[in-house]
Amino acid sequence: MKADRYMKNFLNKIKILYSDQPEFLQSTSSFFSSLIQFLRRNESYLKYSLLERMIEPERIIQFRVCWINDKGIVKVNTAWRIQFNSSIGPFKGGVRFHPSVNLSILKFLAFNQVFKNSLISIPMGGGKGGSNFNPKNKSELEIMRFCQSMMTELHRHIGHNIDIPAGDIGVGEKEIGFMYGITKKLLNNASCCFTGKSLNYGGSFFRKEATGYGLVYFLELMLKQHGIKIEGKKVSVSGSGNVALHAIEKCILMGAKVISASDSDGTVIDSAGFNLEKINQLKKIKKENKRIKIYAEKFKLIYLKNQNPWSVPTEIALPCATQNEIRERDAYELIKNGVIAVAEGANMPVTKKAIRMFIESNVIFGPGKAANAGGVAVSGLEISQNSSYINWDKNEVEDKLKDIMYKIHQSCVKYGKIGKKINYTIGANTASFIKVANAMLEQGIY
Ligand code: NDP
Repeated sequence: MKADRYMKNFLNKIKILYSDQPEFLQSTSSFFSSLIQFLRRNESYLKYSLLERMIEPERIIQFRVCWINDKGIVKVNTAWRIQFNSSIGPFKGGVRFHPSVNLSILKFLAFNQVFKNSLISIPMGGGKGGSNFNPKNKSELEIMRFCQSMMTELHRHIGHNIDIPAGDIGVGEKEIGFMYGITKKLLNNASCCFTGKSLNYGGSFFRKEATGYGLVYFLELMLKQHGIKIEGKKVSVSGSGNVALHAIEKCILMGAKVISASDSDGTVIDSAGFNLEKINQLKKIKKENKRIKIYAEKFKLIYLKNQNPWSVPTEIALPCATQNEIRERDAYELIKNGVIAVAEGANMPVTKKAIRMFIESNVIFGPGKAANAGGVAVSGLEISQNSSYINWDKNEVEDKLKDIMYKIHQSCVKYGKIGKKINYTIGANTASFIKVANAMLEQGIY
């Protein structure tokens, strides 16, 4: 068949082209290969080199960031902004500060962001950025100097209706404040050039909670679709950052029993389940930049040094830390121990092979593109509020977020139904592809 031949050639081509960008190759090859059934029925999408155009970012900006540490030593980092696809709207996506950041990781994140944003009713294109700067153990002034130095270059490439960055790993409200402040000064313009801002200067209610809460709304919808209730279910969460802590909080509020949290040093297991009081303690410890180990010691809980949570029996797994944190071995453990659902809070936390294992074992699997779209959805709502000089209250934003997650779930069901089963990955990828593809086709070749 034409589509099979086309896809085979295309996948072979990108395998060679991006052999030095493993994460980018992983996300793009998984995405395009999941579209094969749709493309067999809709060969018109194979025209005009559409897939070849989709995989190439519109623009990549790479630059050096020089800053001075507290000892007066000059430090140099590399930063990037990937402006991947603006066919639906201005580029939109977070900024990551982590020593592991490189071009491959940012390109995979930006590519995913294009299709995640396409699932949301607010018109936004996709991008991502970041630096190999490590904010850990840096003073507030060092972080500020780094952010300001980075924006002396990046400010000329972003802005309202152009590219609107937000937070990600290592970038929270504090860093956004530093980046927004200097950008506003350099542009002499106070329009919405960042989301995830503090409530004191144009941030949206519920932005902090949005990704974690949205993930749990999506999980609840997936479970409901399969006649399962979230109440009483045992849930394992990885990470202890913005996404993880809010996912844990929402699971508790919905009556589930969350037994784990983690950081890059290890995992804490609370067999009795966290409660809201314990989570507030954990938030406090994290705010002081302390490690999960300190929390485990304080509450005399089990601490698994250098281990992730996936070997501990659970019913639901919510990976909320980073990419490729559930590999084949972890999937094997989870399946053996009877996991019924996995939903991605982080971006691409489950490897391609592990996803296949879950689907073959009838584990309900929610891909990040859909399941963690709540964060960028509320970022979109932040842009809308800033543009109209209004502030919706918390309930209004939460209702809108719930509605967006509901519609994303409906799209996944519509495009992912295969017989009696739902493949949420195929559903999310197909629904998001159609919108981006149609927008590109309607705007001509440029
Ligand atoms: P944070 O920086 O707030 O937290 C990240 C957490 O993950 C920390 O607990 C961190 O531990 C842990 N972590 C990071 N890298 C590793 C690693 N290599 N191995 C083990 N643990 C690690 O980030 P967020 O919570 O904002 O983001 C988490 C994930 O969710 C990312 O994949 C991000 O792209 C995705 N995401 C975030 C959104 C948002 O709104 N913030 C929106 C959609 C997706 P440690 O402190 O030890 O580094």
